[in-house]
Amino acid sequence: DLALRFDNIGKVYPDGTRAVSGFTLDIRRGEFIVLIGPSGCGKTTTLRVINRLIEPSSGTIFIDGRDFRQIRPVELRRRLGYVIQRIGLMPHLTIQDNITFVPRLNRVPAAARRTRATELLEMVGLDPAQYLDRYPAELSGGQQQRIGVLRALAHDPDIILMDEPFGALDPLMRDQLQDELKKLQRTVAKTIIFVTHDMDEALTMADRIVLMKEGEIVQVGTPEEMLRHP
Ligand code: ADP
Ligand code: ADP
Repeated sequence: DLALRFDNIGKVYPDGTRAVSGFTLDIRRGEFIVLIGPSGCGKTTTLRVINRLIEPSSGTIFIDGRDFRQIRPVELRRRLGYVIQRIGLMPHLTIQDNITFVPRLNRVPAAARRTRATELLEMVGLDPAQYLDRYPAELSGGQQQRIGVLRALAHDPDIILMDEPFGALDPLMRDQLQDELKKLQRTVAKTIIFVTHDMDEALTMADRIVLMKEGEIVQVGTPEEMLRHP
């Protein structure tokens, strides 16, 4: 059951930088994929292509068998969730409004958004009564990062894209959020593409690891396979 097919994706930036070439990969529904490789190898570019933040120079992506260019931006936004390293919570919005940012864009009524935010906060063990109406600045870095993850889940997307979401956290907090995310993934059964440059993190989280170098895929395998044939 295929969620995503990358068909020979390439990206050359206007200045001539060849960021990604010949990226071909099938991803099953519910699979946790980790894209790993050194800084500059094309991981973020690949995520941004899926998100249509940038256009590929060649190739295409199929989402549930449909060429993603045929999918309207509104539908794509509904089906994708995006988490980045710099959390990007909006300081002037409450935790509830940050979590339900996309539902808000989609004009989901306030009562339904509150219910959804409550349910999500409970999933990561944050007391809704205490946090729903607070502002991001009142939360610790780890708590803000959890909110960033919840924001990507709030509109119930099929596919979640995560770009070094735990990169800025201390090791203890990072371990804890890795655990939470794995549990969350089992609960919600989402397809996740997770970018990191940390092999330990990849081995902990991934169903399959995709190793990139200079814009190309050099190895794909389960954590066990990657350890056997490093
Ligand atoms: P990674 O996420 O693995 O660090 P990126 O996808 O950010 O890699 O970058 C891949 C390559 O593309 C790098 O050489 C980077 O400098 C270059 N690059 C990224 N964004 C741009 C841009 N907007 N214009 C030109 N080159 C870029
Ligand atoms: P603008 O058009 O004003 O740039 P956007 O609606 O594109 O605003 O995004 C505003 C903020 O919401 C950004 O910080 C962006 O990262 C976040 N955002 C947009 N779409 C999503 C999404 N699907 N999931 C999570 N956050 C999103």
